Amino acid sequence: MRTVIIGSGAGGLTTASTIRKYNKDMEIFVITREKYIAYSPCALPYVIANEIPSFEDIIMHTPEDYKKNKNINIITESNVIDIDSNNNEITYCSNKSMNPKDDKDNNNDNEDNNNKENNKDTDNNFKMTLNYDYLVIATGGLPFIPPIEGRDLEGVFALKTIEDGMRIKKYAENSKNAIVAGAGAIGLEMAYALKKLGLQVTIVEMAPQVLPRALDIDMAKKVMNYLTEDLGIKVLLEKPLGKILGDENNRVKGAIIDDEIYNCDMVIMATGTRPNVELARKAGCEIGRFAIKVNSKMQTTIPNIYAVGDCVETRDYITKQITLSPFGTTALRQGKVAGKNIAGVPAEFNPVLNAMVSKIGDIEVGGTGMSELRAHQNRLEVVVGKSKAFTRARYYPGGKNIYIKLIFDMNKTIIGCQIVGGERVSERIDAMSLGILKNITCEDLSNMEFCYAPPVSMVVDPIALAAEDAYDKFNRL
Ligand SMILES: Cc1cc2nc3c(=O)[nH]c(=O)nc-3n(C[C@H](O)[C@H](O)[C@H](O)COP(=O)(O)OP(=O)(O)OC[C@H]3O[C@@H](n4cnc5c(N)ncnc54)[C@H](O)[C@@H]3O)c2cc1C
Repeated sequence: MRTVIIGSGAGGLTTASTIRKYNKDMEIFVITREKYIAYSPCALPYVIANEIPSFEDIIMHTPEDYKKNKNINIITESNVIDIDSNNNEITYCSNKSMNPKDDKDNNNDNEDNNNKENNKDTDNNFKMTLNYDYLVIATGGLPFIPPIEGRDLEGVFALKTIEDGMRIKKYAENSKNAIVAGAGAIGLEMAYALKKLGLQVTIVEMAPQVLPRALDIDMAKKVMNYLTEDLGIKVLLEKPLGKILGDENNRVKGAIIDDEIYNCDMVIMATGTRPNVELARKAGCEIGRFAIKVNSKMQTTIPNIYAVGDCVETRDYITKQITLSPFGTTALRQGKVAGKNIAGVPAEFNPVLNAMVSKIGDIEVGGTGMSELRAHQNRLEVVVGKSKAFTRARYYPGGKNIYIKLIFDMNKTIIGCQIVGGERVSERIDAMSLGILKNITCEDLSNMEFCYAPPVSMVVDPIALAAEDAYDKFNRL
């Protein structure tokens, strides 16, 4: 039996490794457009900011490692162009031949793998086919760049792959001013990175706040203050990037925002991604409201084709509505589920809370579950509890501010949490994710047994303080 996986991101590689963990005999091929595999795109802004010394540091494994340690064949720099789901066959183009006579350096050891080399395409790439018993589509997302004038100029970037990261860092070395379009987590991480490299940075965002998908406006204001006051980044809210201006060499020289000209040498388009579903569509898999439709086993509407990661849609735990979950953690967990099912071990993927965390300079920002705004949009009545506290005992050196916001439904059950603080945000977000999944109430949280030692926590945990605030509000209703 053979599984072919398209895509070597978190979704694709986790599926491959999980199949191998439970099935030693399955023949596994992973095909990817990329040259480098097994790196975390999440780390790219931190390499650009020089917080991680080099791009090589974030590459965890090579194709050779996968072959040697797990007997998984990785075919890099190859583009899958078609899926024939009637004949269980994919077609891909590669500048490397799978015929050992053509390419002595090819280490994919594919002499017996039934790859059929057909012909060459117009770019002189080899065009090949590969049969499968199971196919996994893990094609991720594609950066969404709005159709504005100047988007093709030299100096306009989107950050998706390690190669994008390398190009951005190199360009930034000779730049003085940057505009970052989009104030989501990647936009803010990039704004900080460029600021740290010494550039003047302006963020432009259409929404009335930063981090519009993760935070409510009251929590976003704390992030905004840090960006503008502590980092000296200019943030323009409720304004679209109108046009990018080029010089005589077609290099970025400025941008028009709200009829005003801003000088800049580079523009980072952090304007989101869209699920990459074209191959799945060609194969005949049903595309849902936002992306590839899958069941809880990560199976598409074609039973021997699975799909995982940024290219699929999933269900929101609280609203039960279809949603996207473009996170590395989601792709990885979906890869585990698909891999187990393909290997014959039953597994299901559960609806998501879309928990997120990001570190922007000296602050950490996290959110999970439902925001107050989204609750109102869904006509859900809520009560909010808040606290402002410290991350260590008040007298202990090095303590940092932490702001907590907890959102409860009218049964007093937690449905959301947002935190902005100097440290220890991610573990609290994870605890609150568990709280949401286990229907914990504000009484439970305000009485919860939190651990304590002065260097790492306050004697009354900031979560308990926020829960008590909500508890008091419920009592006053
Ligand atoms: C800058 C940045 C920071 C991020 N930070 C975080 C974070 O902090 N936390 C978090 O949880 N998530 C983060 N994410 C999101 C996370 O990286 C993605 O959700 C995750 O990578 C999705 O994994 P995936 O396997 O679905 O897709 P991808 O990692 O996008 O992989 C898609 C793969 O498909 C291949 N492919 C696509 N089409 C074809 C084709 N036709 N032929 C061959 N190969 C093809 C590509 O080459 C690639 O290997 C970040 C993303 C970026 C870009």
